[in-house]
Amino acid sequence: MSNTVYTFGGNAPHTDARQKDKTVTGGKGANLAEMASIGLPVPPGFTITTEESVRYLREGADFSDALRADVATALTHIEGAVGKSLGDAADPLLVSVRSGARVSMPGMMDTVLNLGLNDATVEGLAKTSGDERFAWDSYRRFIQMYSDVVLGLDHGLFEEALEIAKEDQGFYADTEMSADDWRKLVAEFKALVEQEQGKPFPQDVTEQLWGAIAAVFDSWDSDRAKVYRRLNDIPADWGTAVNVQAMVFGNMGETSATGVAFTRDPATGERAYYGEYLINAQGEDVVAGIRTPQYLTLAAREAAGAKPLSMEEAMPDAYHELARVFDLLEAHYRDMQDIEFTVERGKLWMLQTRSGKRTAKAALKMAVDMVGEDLIDKREAVRRVDPMALDQLLHPTLDPTAPRNVLTTGLPASPGAAAGKIVLDADTAEQWAGRGDKVVLVRVETSPEDIHGMHAAQGILTARGGMTSHAAVVARGMGRPCVSGANGVSIDRDARTLRIGSMELKEGDEITLDGAKGEVMLGIVPTVEPELVGDFGTLMEWADDLRRMRVRTNAETPADCKMARQFGAEGIGLCRTEHMFFDASRISAVRQMILADDEAGRRRALEQLLPEQRADFTAIFEVMTGLPCTIRLLDPPLHEFLPTRDDEFADLADATGLGVDHLKRRADELHEFNPMLGHRGCRLGITYPEIYEMQARAIFEAACDVQAASGEAPLPEIMVPLVATRKELAILRALVERVADEVFAEKGTNVAYLVGTMIELPRAALMAGEIAHEGAFFSFGTNDLTQTTLGVSRDDSARFLAPYVDQGIFPRDPFVSLDVDGVGQLVEIAAERGRATREGIKLGICGEHGGDPASIAFCEKVGLDYVSASPYRVPIARLAAAQSALSSGE
Ligand code: ADP
Ligand code: MG
Ligand code: MG
Repeated sequence: MSNTVYTFGGNAPHTDARQKDKTVTGGKGANLAEMASIGLPVPPGFTITTEESVRYLREGADFSDALRADVATALTHIEGAVGKSLGDAADPLLVSVRSGARVSMPGMMDTVLNLGLNDATVEGLAKTSGDERFAWDSYRRFIQMYSDVVLGLDHGLFEEALEIAKEDQGFYADTEMSADDWRKLVAEFKALVEQEQGKPFPQDVTEQLWGAIAAVFDSWDSDRAKVYRRLNDIPADWGTAVNVQAMVFGNMGETSATGVAFTRDPATGERAYYGEYLINAQGEDVVAGIRTPQYLTLAAREAAGAKPLSMEEAMPDAYHELARVFDLLEAHYRDMQDIEFTVERGKLWMLQTRSGKRTAKAALKMAVDMVGEDLIDKREAVRRVDPMALDQLLHPTLDPTAPRNVLTTGLPASPGAAAGKIVLDADTAEQWAGRGDKVVLVRVETSPEDIHGMHAAQGILTARGGMTSHAAVVARGMGRPCVSGANGVSIDRDARTLRIGSMELKEGDEITLDGAKGEVMLGIVPTVEPELVGDFGTLMEWADDLRRMRVRTNAETPADCKMARQFGAEGIGLCRTEHMFFDASRISAVRQMILADDEAGRRRALEQLLPEQRADFTAIFEVMTGLPCTIRLLDPPLHEFLPTRDDEFADLADATGLGVDHLKRRADELHEFNPMLGHRGCRLGITYPEIYEMQARAIFEAACDVQAASGEAPLPEIMVPLVATRKELAILRALVERVADEVFAEKGTNVAYLVGTMIELPRAALMAGEIAHEGAFFSFGTNDLTQTTLGVSRDDSARFLAPYVDQGIFPRDPFVSLDVDGVGQLVEIAAERGRATREGIKLGICGEHGGDPASIAFCEKVGLDYVSASPYRVPIARLAAAQSALSSGE
């Protein structure tokens, strides 16, 4: 047997490993062969390998002699099995020609059915079938499909001709057409073809066959296939297989039918056959919407209150055979199958099977059920569920049955549904939410000073900004739904109104966001709550048993910490302290501290902040007792806290007794040209040690208090940000340890704690061997490490990242999925050098990447101890960590 063409069905030789390999024979071909080999009724056929399509395109659309010979041999296999020959005017074989890439690709060529018909064979078919109408119906279908798919003629012409033919007779349905009607239409179709392409419809069946094969090959490089490949990360060099298969006929009258089915309900996961069929129909009539399909089972028909008989009632024998096949297929593939079948005069034929697409809810239910049915083990169940799909389940979602009045769309920046009153600034959001209103914050774009408003809001809508804009990143972190960069949104801050498209709205009007779809809707659309129990809980337990890495959360409020613990977080991987500074009640003290002329002034302001900061940590530690909590000392450039508006300067002047001019001058002095690379991170601690002293004191006092009150302390892990040198960490570690000793002496008690650093500068990664002398842990701050390694700003990259990803310069947005080759190398180097100095040094990741499954797989490979993700991503990270452990153990 050749290795370019593989036969299946009939008495084809037993399938070998290559034929069952989807990379060679495509998904459809591999599964047809597999079904035939387990004895299921599959019409005989053959598959031309994907490799041949690649060769054909590379060699300038030319068939090799070897391929021609192999196809001719394979065709005799079909002819032998069916007992008919292609082109035999007395008793013709008809075939379908079907494309089939490794993965199902809607961008590929449509199937050609009934190939082998011409003016002579149609008469033979009429005689042997005893059904003239059927023969001419098949011929008109063939001309229509072949002209569209292979000859590239406008299919509208044929549809129009059919419509006119029906209208002339006063018919509504295709089924009303008689043999003579179809015969006349065939004549019209042939005339159409000749008129359009200047030559007659091909009567030579061999020419028909090679024309169809070429069309499948060529379709790999069609525009729509290219677009689909780009959108779905499918490599251009995979190519597509071609399947040529004997026709079976669902259009041979009332005992024939065609249908599609799932072995379980793909929406709910329920173990019930699910599908539709049509009597006396062919091919894609079921999905084409020309006739309304009927239900497969009696139960489904009754549930829907539908009249037309189910297949179970109309063709009980074929139905029971189908049910038997469903069970065989599930037992064989150990997964829910998506099936296409045809019944020809009462006999069932299988035309396709594949693992079916499903919702997240169904995926969980099926995985858990199949373990119960001994179909798969727990490891396989854990492997099967796509971690990212869990996102659908973790946020309240819009009631799918509710009507929607969509005003505009933007980017689906953070999933979930949010509904409430429009507010146009963060303070209003906080105020209105404080009095019990649900609000949606609408901004041109957001900045760090909007954090409190974003927190108070149900969701966030921005007119500008991409998937990694401030609004998007913060919203995902908080689990707030967000639509960013929405089209046609303009805000008039003075009039307190906004315009969405042609709709004029004012603050207080109600809107709803669908963060998963990026839709903005007028009014309140009802939502349904997520379900985190049942199958979800079961699968998560299994995942937890299988994973090695711990999963922590990035959180800085007690509410987020609580939620994260409910989602299974095993500690805090990143508590950013600056968000606490933006709180309305403290920003004044923070500004006084920053704008103070000297250390004494700063200390006075810090004294006001100490009790507030201590209260923050106390509240967090109370939630996180017994768990490690990594707290990052103050990190952002100070200018982010500075006042900008005149009224803010006036307030500050009142509070400090200093003049507005003086304060403005100080603010100017603090201005930086490149603040991300400026006075921030541990540089603040080195120059203004009193800030870090206050923070360390607040942490230790809170830890001692919580230990005294509850008998159990958390494990504070104090993290110094933006370290580049060993000396920086040495100085600041000494500072933290001194404060710890002071507090422990005052309180007469001790709590365990660690001091470590964030690795977020390339120099820190390279010098990790040195830095590890001073730090008990490293946490990879991969957001900044990506920025500083690539020299790309996260906030400004939206403008050029899309074309970069399109052209494959970056495989994915490096702020979403870790640049494993570059940034990853620095992580590996730092891990290795850190461990060489300090055996067992604690290693974790706290960038956004900690919630991205591909990045988590990388963390497993490097052997990190934990990943940290925003609360809503914790379950995703738990599952992804388990999958990573499973695949690294293979
Ligand atoms: P797609 O990948 O778009 O589903 P297929 O190659 O599966 O395309 O073909 C679509 C439909 O055509 C099938 O579901 C089936 O109903 C029909 N079909 C394909 N091959 C045959 C055949 N040999 N006999 C009868 N019907 C067929
Ligand atoms: Mg199709
Ligand atoms: Mg199909």
